[in-house]
Amino acid sequence: MAKKQFKSESKRLLDLMINSIYTNKDIFLRELISNASDAIDKLYYRSLTDKKLKVKKDKLEIFIEFDKDARTLTIRDNGCGMTKEELENNLGTIAKSGSLEFKENMTNEEKSSIIGQFGVGFYSSFMVSDNIKVTSLSADSDKAYCFESSGVDGYTIEEATKKEIGTEILLHIKEDSDEFNYSKYLDEYELKTLVKKYSDYISYPIKMEVTHHELVDSEKHEYKDTKEVEILNSMVPIWKKKKSDIKEEDYNNFYMDKFNDYDKPLEVINYKVEGMTSYNALLFIPSHAPSDYYTQDYEKGLALYSNGVMIMEKCSDLLPDYFSFIKGIVDSEDLSLNISRELLQESQSLNVIEKNIESKIRKELENMMKNDRDKYISFFKTFGVQLKYGVYNNFGMDKDKLKDLVMFYSSKHEKLISLAEYVSSMKDDQKEIYYASGSSISKIDSMPQVEQVKDKEFDILYLTDYVDEFCITALQEYEGKKFKNVSDGDLDLESDTEKEEIKKTNEDYSDLLKMMNDEIKEVSEVRFSNKLKTHPVCLTTKGDVSIEMQKVFDAMPNDMGIKAEKVLEINEKHPISEKLKKLYKKDKDEFKKYTKILYSEALMIAGLPIEDPAEVSKLICEVLSK
Ligand code: ADP
Repeated sequence: MAKKQFKSESKRLLDLMINSIYTNKDIFLRELISNASDAIDKLYYRSLTDKKLKVKKDKLEIFIEFDKDARTLTIRDNGCGMTKEELENNLGTIAKSGSLEFKENMTNEEKSSIIGQFGVGFYSSFMVSDNIKVTSLSADSDKAYCFESSGVDGYTIEEATKKEIGTEILLHIKEDSDEFNYSKYLDEYELKTLVKKYSDYISYPIKMEVTHHELVDSEKHEYKDTKEVEILNSMVPIWKKKKSDIKEEDYNNFYMDKFNDYDKPLEVINYKVEGMTSYNALLFIPSHAPSDYYTQDYEKGLALYSNGVMIMEKCSDLLPDYFSFIKGIVDSEDLSLNISRELLQESQSLNVIEKNIESKIRKELENMMKNDRDKYISFFKTFGVQLKYGVYNNFGMDKDKLKDLVMFYSSKHEKLISLAEYVSSMKDDQKEIYYASGSSISKIDSMPQVEQVKDKEFDILYLTDYVDEFCITALQEYEGKKFKNVSDGDLDLESDTEKEEIKKTNEDYSDLLKMMNDEIKEVSEVRFSNKLKTHPVCLTTKGDVSIEMQKVFDAMPNDMGIKAEKVLEINEKHPISEKLKKLYKKDKDEFKKYTKILYSEALMIAGLPIEDPAEVSKLICEVLSK
């Protein structure tokens, strides 16, 4: 039969697997066992509503067999099995095909990271075997099929004989090499240890025939070998164990296996609730964002169990969007196994659990922020955007729940701080919470508008994320203190005399200012200002839309034409003001050129595009050559 080719991406991943020096080859076994367990879950769950499927709960099992001479290792399950199409789709291609970046000459670290990102899965078996046969009979088919592959050169799928519903995976284990002793996967003790280490919690028995050396005659030192089928795992799900019996390593292994991560979690939340609705929850905060987290493919949700049996792999109702990064499982005896998913999703118990989980995660994060700041910062750098997004999403409905979890960079403390910390260190004469937006800390720091506020020794929150200002706008205030953009036209930081003085200057020069405004129609006002220290000009805004928000709107695919109402402010104490006043009197043409150049300068500092750079550059040269 002609060989079928793997899809190109699958092929490259396979190639990586086969030739990888990914150090932890052992994990292939837990991957196969975990697939087997999922398949049994699926069949069992279906059998509860589909009476045609005759499934006996106590017969459900995973069986491991090995043959040293033939160098084969078999993992067999009596789960749901796969049809011909499923074999093709699940094993012939990698379902989660994404934007994987395969580079030439990758370092081993990069290779491992790719293997990790993919969730190693079935393909990891190619790390230890040179031929794999998967024989499967699906509950939905009357014919069994065998998928066979020796690696990158393709695979075949042919009809096969198999009587029982389920899947058998036969691995031909590679020959030992200088670097690696593959024969360990054909060793009883090694296999037992691996199952115990990685798959102990699996809720179905993992059986293997083991040999016992029995001493029959102690004087003659005579032994007899007896064989017996043994259950290798304790079958107690990790979340049902006593907390004191669980080691950090157990959590890490469980997490990495169950949620396909190559890194251990940042935090584990394990708790139990007893009451009207009782449940166990074992939740994890990943240490990094999953590779598809910011794509549409990402599905949030927790695995849902009813007394040890998985009902749903990803129950999205259990997590609000702002905690979509949380991975974990929830197990409740109060959820009925026999109701449909639709009804389940509407059930009261699920609702209660959801509310509970949300507040538990929130409290854990608040504690982490208080007691382990470094860890929280690491968390916030990875998932903070999600929390800030949560503040303004749904019309700010959840902002009160999240306002104490968001952090911003503080100009005074030169690090991320919470809003509570900002407010508690506010100066006595400070009325508002100041913030400034820009693309980087250093760019904001050199903004003209920042100077005046810093001069007063007021702290400023530097917003560098595109969601930040939307978040602040949704919050409106914190503990009664309003947020104030330093680029706002009326910062109200001058004394009454200063205000009077500048008002008078603006009145005295109203003709001059009008002529400037006529030259640059894009701004709604031009005025002299005493808030700038060293800079000659800057742009401030009136109204609700700031310059940074306009940039976000501009970048949106459907430009809604939302623009900031801009004001050009000229530093009254800067020599340029005198120059303008002189030119206005004696050379109107030159005055207009100066106006355009100064406006371009202000645009540049604000990080906004100059409409006609060639024209501006020409003007600058004309002025310079005078
Ligand atoms: P993952 O388990 O992360 O989805 P795998 O590559 O390990 O990725 O498996 C791909 C798919 O193949 C699984 O999602 C499942 O549908 C199917 N599969 C794998 N092993 C089995 C099995 N023992 N029984 C039934 N289906 C299986």
